[in-house]
Amino acid sequence: MFIDFHTHRDRQCQNLVNLQTLHVNVDLQAKSLPPTCSLGLHPWFTDISSWEDAYKNLEILANLPKVLAIGECGLDRNIDLPMELQIIILQRHIELAETLQKPLVIHCVRAFSELIALKKTTKSVIPWIVHGFHKKTEVFQQLLEHNFYFSFGAAILSDRAPVVQAIATIPQGRFLLETDDRDDISIEQIYDRAAALRQVSLVTLQSQLVETYHQLTSLSRINRRIATIHSEPNLTE
Ligand SMILES: [Zn+2]
Repeated sequence: MFIDFHTHRDRQCQNLVNLQTLHVNVDLQAKSLPPTCSLGLHPWFTDISSWEDAYKNLEILANLPKVLAIGECGLDRNIDLPMELQIIILQRHIELAETLQKPLVIHCVRAFSELIALKKTTKSVIPWIVHGFHKKTEVFQQLLEHNFYFSFGAAILSDRAPVVQAIATIPQGRFLLETDDRDDISIEQIYDRAAALRQVSLVTLQSQLVETYHQLTSLSRINRRIATIHSEPNLTE
């Protein structure tokens, strides 16, 4: 079983979990969603005048069981959308993800200190997954210490030392793999490279990532179960 944790492509085949990410606008409807998906307002496509209406649509669609994660959403210093507004919009995604107990898939470009600050101030407890990670070792270490998760993609196919070191050393349970918007690479290639760098077999890596995926995406179900157990009378008292 392969899991493409963050992709913009609609690819259905056996032995693949394809978590397709879609940007939500006012027109997106439940009937056009793929079987498993992640929804959010991508900062690149967020319109300053209509984002609140798009967000209202996200709030409705995000309740659907097929929506397994919130995002991609995040912060990008390379675009024109003001950073203050990007932070407000990301805060709304964090609140929604917390309410629904669904993980948050994050796009972050040159704004990691703002991202870490938000994680501290919001005291959010759901998993935050930084997708497409390829930054310096110091940033990687800082994010690890703040309990971020990672999704690695095409960058691990390169020989860039920081990302190669990150995928080789990251603890099991803290990462997943993705193809993002690349049509020219397959998730199988990314798995092969990750298995080689981590010095584990493909089969071992596959079963580890299935476990991580279930841990990250079944939070809402697990928490509902815990809440039920806690509300039952304690028979030993
Ligand atoms: Zn993406």
